[in-house]
This record gives sequence, structure tokens and C-alpha cells, in this order.
Amino acid sequence: MRRFREEKDGKEKGKGKGKAAKRRPVTRRRACRLCADTKLILDYKDLRLLQQFISERGRIIPRRVSGNCAYHQRTVGLAVKRARLLALLPFTSMQH
Ligand SMILES: [Zn+2]
Repeated sequence: MRRFREEKDGKEKGKGKGKAAKRRPVTRRRACRLCADTKLILDYKDLRLLQQFISERGRIIPRRVSGNCAYHQRTVGLAVKRARLLALLPFTSMQH
């Protein structure tokens, strides 16, 4: 994985993006948002919060991107799936 990224960076460097090559890989470790803010309680009815964890196409954003901890990522996944069943969130987007 890391090796792949380095190769990719190298390619970008070849294209003339020297700045991008110097930057560290995108794996920035941040504290889980839901752990940091104990007032944030994830619920399948809380669409405003859930929408922050799904992409434009309605897919659940992976843990490595959202920065969630394993426990909260599971909670998010469960809540999103519940919301989808109740038609509160889309399974996919229809736009192209
Ligand atoms: Zn967490």
C-alpha cells in the first residue's frame, strides 16, 4: 500500500508536481470525531450527522478517510444502513 503510494508520488513528480511528492502520504492520524465530542451521539434519525459520513454518491466514507475509530465506524455503518432501510438516506445517487 505504502509502496504503491510512493510510486504514484513518483509519477506525479515526473509530471512536474514536485510539491505533491514531498508531502507525506494522506494517512493523517486524527482523533475520532465522535470520541472527541461526547455530546455527539450517533443516531439513525440524525441525518445531518450521518450525511457527514457518507459520500456524494451515498456511500459510507471509509475509516481511513473519516478518521473514525473502529467502534464508531461500526456505529456509523449500522446507523447509515438503518437510515437507508427507512429511506432516510439513499443507497445510491441517481444523478450522473
Ligand atoms: Zn470513536
